[in-house]
Amino acid sequence: AVFVFTMHHPETTTVFLDRFLVSAESYSIPTVIIFNKIDIYKPEEFDQVSELMATYAEIGYKVLDVSVTKNHNIDAVREILKDKVSLISGQSGVGKTSIVNAVSGLNLKTASISESHDSGKHTTSFAQMLPLDFGGYIIDTPGVRAFGLVELERNCISHYFPEIFKTAENCRFYNCTHTNEPG
Ligand code: GDP
Repeated sequence: AVFVFTMHHPETTTVFLDRFLVSAESYSIPTVIIFNKIDIYKPEEFDQVSELMATYAEIGYKVLDVSVTKNHNIDAVREILKDKVSLISGQSGVGKTSIVNAVSGLNLKTASISESHDSGKHTTSFAQMLPLDFGGYIIDTPGVRAFGLVELERNCISHYFPEIFKTAENCRFYNCTHTNEPG
């Protein structure tokens, strides 16, 4: 799975990102996080994004900074998608369809960000799987505004945060919720 993150235009929260990662992790689906639109960030915003990228990379996720507009790291995206079946997800307006177009040479319809809502318009209204001429398939999905977790037990959620799971090896309680237990 490929999750597309933008700090603004539209704002993606880390809660949204984490829910996606937990969901993918619970089905053992490897996830790559694309930080798109890096061309629009001011230097201090770029520092914030770099910090986020480092945090998720340290957990073990593959992360990539991308700008479709500047054609930055599009080859690296192709490399990631090559010979795999990948689903691309993220909020409306983060640039999913633009990324699909850039890597594939297709010309699927994109929509400008609506100024009043700082969010994308929903142009992709159904999931579609497209063959890639360099090998593999990509599934473009409709943008989502919110992401909830289903079929996950509350006390199992921490298992799907790799960094918590790893640290919990040293936890003194076998059923620890890692919220308010001592130590
Ligand atoms: P989707 O809803 O996630 O599929 O987003 P779209 O691909 O339709 O893109 C939404 C808007 O963001 C369009 O106006 C794109 O031109 C613009 N966009 C996409 N990628 C970038 C980027 O890397 N930089 C900038 N500045 N704009 C981008």
